[in-house]
Amino acid sequence: MKLYNTMSKKKEEFVPLEDGHVKMYVCGPTVYNFIHIGNARPMIVFDTVRRYFEYKGYDVNFVSNFTDVDDKIIKKAIEEGVTAGEISKRYIAECKKDMDGMNIKPATKNPLATEEIGGMVDMIQALIEKGYAYEKNGTVYYRTRRFKDYGKLSHKNLDDLRSGNRSLLVSGEDEKEDPLDFVLWKPKKEGEPAWKSPWGEGRPGWHIECSEMSKKYLGEQIDIHAGGEDLVFPHHENEIAQSEAANGKEFTKYWLHNGFLNIDNRKMSKSLGNFFTVREISEKYDLQVLRFFMLSAHYRSPLNFSADLMEAAKSGLERILTAADNLQFLLGNAKTETMTDGERDVFAKSQEFVDSFEKAMDDDFNTADAIAAVFDLVKYANTTANGESSEEYLQGIYDLIVKLTDVLGIVVEKKTELLDGDIDALIQERQNARKERNFARADEIRDELLAKGIILEDTREGVKWKRA
Ligand code: AMP
Ligand code: ZN
Repeated sequence: MKLYNTMSKKKEEFVPLEDGHVKMYVCGPTVYNFIHIGNARPMIVFDTVRRYFEYKGYDVNFVSNFTDVDDKIIKKAIEEGVTAGEISKRYIAECKKDMDGMNIKPATKNPLATEEIGGMVDMIQALIEKGYAYEKNGTVYYRTRRFKDYGKLSHKNLDDLRSGNRSLLVSGEDEKEDPLDFVLWKPKKEGEPAWKSPWGEGRPGWHIECSEMSKKYLGEQIDIHAGGEDLVFPHHENEIAQSEAANGKEFTKYWLHNGFLNIDNRKMSKSLGNFFTVREISEKYDLQVLRFFMLSAHYRSPLNFSADLMEAAKSGLERILTAADNLQFLLGNAKTETMTDGERDVFAKSQEFVDSFEKAMDDDFNTADAIAAVFDLVKYANTTANGESSEEYLQGIYDLIVKLTDVLGIVVEKKTELLDGDIDALIQERQNARKERNFARADEIRDELLAKGIILEDTREGVKWKRA
């Protein structure tokens, strides 16, 4: 299995640190709004990477953080007149709903920066003790000149960067020893959340969060660290400087970065205002279509979002779902149980599609070619399965389709519609939860029903419901 390592700029054979295990960290979003579909790209791509490792038999420890303290969160909180905690809590919950819709597997752990401050303070302290950091007026900076490998991931010319940055220094930063030095701890400003530290009250810089959370939940050395390509510099470069200086060993073996999701060939981003939220897309499409669209390109290539490509993804996906549906129908009506010898030969040939699927995924997760292999398998199913096929043959082919689409995070089983009786039972459970003042559970049930297209209406005569 080969993967492209940003560090070496080459495809390398994957060799885990520990046999049969993968330790993987993916930088998560800053939670101050609904996520946009650009943010969804790393989520979908690296969830697929995880799923493929699992398919290959690895046990994957998958950690992805939420950055829940940040200037943008504080700004939004001030605008709304609520606490920063309220903003981050709300958007973590919304983000998790979107992730669920995109069939992203829950991480082994989603650490929150605000719950890990103590560990970050310890790490900063260790860096100061080793001479890799210094404090000036309540701010702690990382001393980049001290770390001899600084720049090894981004392959940048540091002297150019230094002279460029010199003129860009913002006021108050002239206390830095070097323009490339970055903040590990910043002092409290009025009205901002703050924590105690040896350097006074304040909060951590963004980069130290990931170094600490990765170490705490995965250990000092990990197999894979991933995120969008805008994170290579400075975020990941700085994480390396922090972690390797503090721990005295190589931090990450393989660095994986996804290309941008563009719109009109420009990066989709909140600041440019050219974005669609995942929630908006979900009003028009099943989010499986979005997932399928993202995987139709190689994860390192730029991908342009357009209505045409979404429609193409929709019809491609439908072809697969229809084939699976047909097999289910045939299975329900099959006249014989076991495969004939002839069927056994035909079935053996289907292995060829599994081989091409694996070959594509083994080559740096080439999902575009993997999807082509699934289409070939579906075509094969359509031409070989019919009313005369045995149950064993139909089930065999169906299981193959499920096995491969599951790696892509696509669910082919028809979503079973809720029966009226089930709905009534859930409504009753919600009423009971409310009586016990368990409003969290009551809301959860309402959302669960909404996700299945059932809308509740609380009226004076009781709860009424309708299908959306
Ligand atoms: P942020 O909340 O901006 O820190 O972004 C969270 C993740 O989404 C990071 O891995 C970013 O690199 C990634 N990301 C943001 N915008 C895009 C985009 N337009 N295309 C692909 N990835 C993106
Ligand atoms: Zn990070």
